[in-house]
Amino acid sequence: MDDFDVLVVGGGPAGSTCAWSLERLGLRVAVLDAKQFPRDKVCAGWITPQILAELELEASHYAEGGRTIQPIYGFEVSLAGGKSARVTYPEVISYGILRCELDAYLLERCGAKLYLGQPLRELRREGSHWVANGFLRAPVLVGAGGHFCPVARQLAGDVRSEEPVIAAQEVEFELDAEQAARCPVSPEVPELFFERDLLGYAWLVRKGSMLNVGIGRQDTHDLAGHAREFLALCESLGKLPPRTPPKRHGHAYVLYDQTKRALGGDGFVLIGDSAGLAWPQSGEGIRPAVESGLLAARAISNKDLASYSRDMQERFGVRNRPRPYPSDYLPRVIRTWVVEKLIGNERFARRVVLDGWFLHRDQAPLESL
Ligand SMILES: Cc1cc2nc3c(=O)[nH]c(=O)nc-3n(C[C@H](O)[C@H](O)[C@H](O)COP(=O)(O)OP(=O)(O)OC[C@H]3O[C@@H](n4cnc5c(N)ncnc54)[C@H](O)[C@@H]3O)c2cc1C
Repeated sequence: MDDFDVLVVGGGPAGSTCAWSLERLGLRVAVLDAKQFPRDKVCAGWITPQILAELELEASHYAEGGRTIQPIYGFEVSLAGGKSARVTYPEVISYGILRCELDAYLLERCGAKLYLGQPLRELRREGSHWVANGFLRAPVLVGAGGHFCPVARQLAGDVRSEEPVIAAQEVEFELDAEQAARCPVSPEVPELFFERDLLGYAWLVRKGSMLNVGIGRQDTHDLAGHAREFLALCESLGKLPPRTPPKRHGHAYVLYDQTKRALGGDGFVLIGDSAGLAWPQSGEGIRPAVESGLLAARAISNKDLASYSRDMQERFGVRNRPRPYPSDYLPRVIRTWVVEKLIGNERFARRVVLDGWFLHRDQAPLESL
């Protein structure tokens, strides 16, 4: 048997952050992941500066060795390519990163013993300990296996049939010199396109020599059709470089206020997408993954797992209580008209869409332990 204080299943941002925090407190941690790293993860890859602060990461240090960390100074926002608002800030308000690089960096840095390329095949309880795959033993288990986390499925009840998911598709590719010259998307100002039915949005995010084109929707019906429509719109606006690869990759995740997934139970906690934590309006999931990892580590080190749920609700609000927008009370045609006017309005786009929904500028970083 390999014995540890904590076993983390999943080495994405949630798992590696929790392991990093626990290791610094002197606990012995194992991280088990199905994949070898570096591995890719379907994601637009924008993160806010608060995340760097929480992870005690300097952008310049991270960039050493050629890692991509694209400073972002604003966003251009429109309703389906209608009148747009280009909102910029004097300071960096986000960064564009590549998940294959960021996740591998964080996992390597965390200091835990890594068991990679090994999916969780079997999990059982032996007295007060968990035993995974017959040889990894620990009294505390952290489920960090993302949307399809096996720990969540085995221990937190399978609520998947009841919960609405965000379904998303994207293509991320390296621009050659000609494509780069003919791609009008500014690396410093990515573009967001809200869907006319307001059930999702699409994006064009350029980071260094890479372009990420994607769409996420609350209504999973015909996502591929919506993605095709968006690509056609981009083409008509001259936004897509020639020879954009047609193959898209998909993934799903769950919003914090739309799930009954438990945050933990006897001897275990769930963090990141495993718990369904993405921010309701933007679908941002990396910051909740990092913050839940930090809060879980605090609860584990205090030997008070129940405090994790309380701390999460204090930070993110009450679970499973969808918050209606004022616009939800308007008939759809009027709503679309109103929202089109508002989203194309610089003041609204800045104050509500960006400062509030996407950047959470009023929310200070969590202090790490
Ligand atoms: C198209 C798309 C775009 C997005 N864009 C953004 C964005 O720009 N910014 C943002 O903040 N969020 C974005 N998100 C959300 C974000 O990607 C997730 O919220 C984030 O990855 C959650 O991190 P995590 O560590 O919880 O899970 P993950 O990153 O999914 O990591 C889970 C890990 O668990 C491992 N695992 C899975 N099953 C097993 C198993 N059986 N045994 C062992 N290991 C296992 C996996 O290999 C993986 O390494 C996007 C999501 C999608 C789908």
